[in-house]
Amino acid sequence: MHVKRKSISTKVSITGIGLHSGIYTKVELHPAHAGSGITFVRADLGIRIPALQASTTALDHATTVGRDDVSVGTVEHLLSALMACGITDLDIHINGPEVPIIDGSALPFMHLIDAAGVRELGADVRVLRVKEPIEVVDGNRSIRITPSNRLVVKYKIDFDHPTIGKQALAFDFHHDSFLKKIAPARTFGFKQDVDKLRAAGLARGGSIENCIVLDERGVMNGPLRYRDEFVRHKILDLIGDLALIGRPVVGEITAYRAGHSLHSRFVEKILRAAEAEEDAVSIGAAAAESFA
Ligand SMILES: [Zn+2]
Repeated sequence: MHVKRKSISTKVSITGIGLHSGIYTKVELHPAHAGSGITFVRADLGIRIPALQASTTALDHATTVGRDDVSVGTVEHLLSALMACGITDLDIHINGPEVPIIDGSALPFMHLIDAAGVRELGADVRVLRVKEPIEVVDGNRSIRITPSNRLVVKYKIDFDHPTIGKQALAFDFHHDSFLKKIAPARTFGFKQDVDKLRAAGLARGGSIENCIVLDERGVMNGPLRYRDEFVRHKILDLIGDLALIGRPVVGEITAYRAGHSLHSRFVEKILRAAEAEEDAVSIGAAAAESFA
């Protein structure tokens, strides 16, 4: 199966407030050449930060990538949209510390990429296929991947809340179904956590415009876009965190009550297994050569 590398056809931009920083930024997507990968560029400081697992610096409530003391926060919704569109090479210029939250979902980013146009590049992507199951467990939270020719994400959540409760969804990864079933699902948060988050410097840009807010009884700013919008958003987040592998991955993923920090440990483990596999292959090739 050959999959082409992809970028966008023309430059596009979007502006908005950061969910956690409360700072307004402008994000500009620039076409990039085959093999350059996805890179955040702090346009105000001239610093390039590859969208790779090795760049992650924080995972509390959102995924942050950085280099030296410079970072870009809440990258996961934009990266999720890029994954869904098969974008492998792109420069993301941003003039501040956090990707705008817009409406809390990935839909505005899907529309942005659509407006830019997707362009196939003249090179193939190296798809990562897991050979054996890989799992991370933390108490009653877990996430695992087993070999498959497609990317399937099965996510289950269990919140002690009357509106959320237990939700489960199996998602067969594909652009059109992502656009319809996953991209519109919004970030959610609990009213009782807002003061604590704000004291910790988080959720400063959060509002009823960009986040589903729940109190003890239910949703304060309904209606929901889906009855199970919460589990759909968890799938959106996971796909964004998987983008930090730096290449598309296929396999069947089962996640239970996971979140950004478990997603991140999972991505680390997948990368370590892939590296070990490649080392074994090159040692095998060297051995075969020495016997030739
Ligand atoms: Zn999210």
